[in-house]
Amino acid sequence: MMPEFDWEAAGAGRKGRYALTVREGLALPVLVVRGAHAGPVLLVSAGVHGDEYEGIQAIFDVFETLDPDRMHGSLIATPVANPPAFWNGTRVSPLDGGNLARVFPGDAAGGPTQAIAWCFGQRLLPLADFYLDLHSAGVKWLMPTLVGYHAGDPAAEGGAEAFGAPVIWRHESIAPGRTVSAAAARGVPGLYVEGRGAGRIHPDDLAVYREGILRLMRHLGILEGALAPRPPRLRLAGDGNIDEGVPARQRGFLTPRVELLQPVGAGDLLGTLHDEWGRRIDEFHAPRAGVVVLIHACPLVEPGEPLFLITGLAE
Ligand SMILES: [Zn+2]
Repeated sequence: MMPEFDWEAAGAGRKGRYALTVREGLALPVLVVRGAHAGPVLLVSAGVHGDEYEGIQAIFDVFETLDPDRMHGSLIATPVANPPAFWNGTRVSPLDGGNLARVFPGDAAGGPTQAIAWCFGQRLLPLADFYLDLHSAGVKWLMPTLVGYHAGDPAAEGGAEAFGAPVIWRHESIAPGRTVSAAAARGVPGLYVEGRGAGRIHPDDLAVYREGILRLMRHLGILEGALAPRPPRLRLAGDGNIDEGVPARQRGFLTPRVELLQPVGAGDLLGTLHDEWGRRIDEFHAPRAGVVVLIHACPLVEPGEPLFLITGLAE
C-alpha cells in the first residue's frame, strides 16, 4: 500500500510514490520528484482516457531518470488519472460511462468520474505552476503527434513552443469540462498532447512525450541546461473539439479516403461506410477546407462517434 499523498510531507530533494484517495476504494497514483532547490511545480497527467498509453510510459520513464538534487522546482505526475478506465482498457469509465476530459470541475458527491475530476482539481491543480495533460488518439482514432494550447495564454504558448512536438495546434477557445480548461480557471497555464494511439506506443511518439516533459522542465527552469530550438514541421490553428467532428450516423465499416494532415477542400470525400455485405451505405464529406487532424482508424464505427476532424493551417 502506498502512503497517502501529502505535498507538505513530501520532503525536498526526494522522490516518492503516493496514493491520492478520491473516495473509499478509489485512489490516484501520484509520483513526486521534489527538487532540492525551490522553484516552480510542473503537474503532468496521463491516462485521463484509459486507452491512451504513451503518456503513462513517458511519465514512468522520466520519473526514473530525474535527480531531485539537481532540480530547482518539482514534478508532480499522475500517470493513470482515471484508474477504472485504465484497468478496463477503455476511453471512458466502466463504472459510470464518464469521460474524465468532459466533466471538470467535477463533483465530490457525483459518480466516480466526477469525483476524480473534483479531487484532481482541488488537490493537485492548486499546487501547479504549469500543467501538461498527455493524451493520444486512443484505441480507435489516429491523430498527428502534436501539442495544443489556448491562444489567449502567452505562458501556455511559450510552453508549447518549448515542448518540441512536430505539430503545434493553436486554439482560439478550449471547450469547458477539460483538464486544461480547469487549469486555466485556476490561472495555471496548460498544454495537452496528442499522438498516434491505436492502443500501442509508437517509439517516435514516446520519444516526443519523454523529451517534451524534460524540455518543458528546462523551459520552466526546473532543470538546468540550454533548450535547443525544435521548431514544428506544421502549425495548425482552429477548433480542436473532436466532439464537433464529422459523426457516424449509423454502425458500419469505415474506409477512410484521406490521410492524416492531408489538405482538403470543402465538400471533399473523406470516407465511405459499408455494411457487412460491402454495400456503400453512407459517405462523409469535409464540412470546410483545411487539413485532416483526426481519423477514426478502427474500421468498425458506432453511431455518434467522430470519424474525421478538419482544422485550419496557421498563417
Ligand atoms: Zn484523450
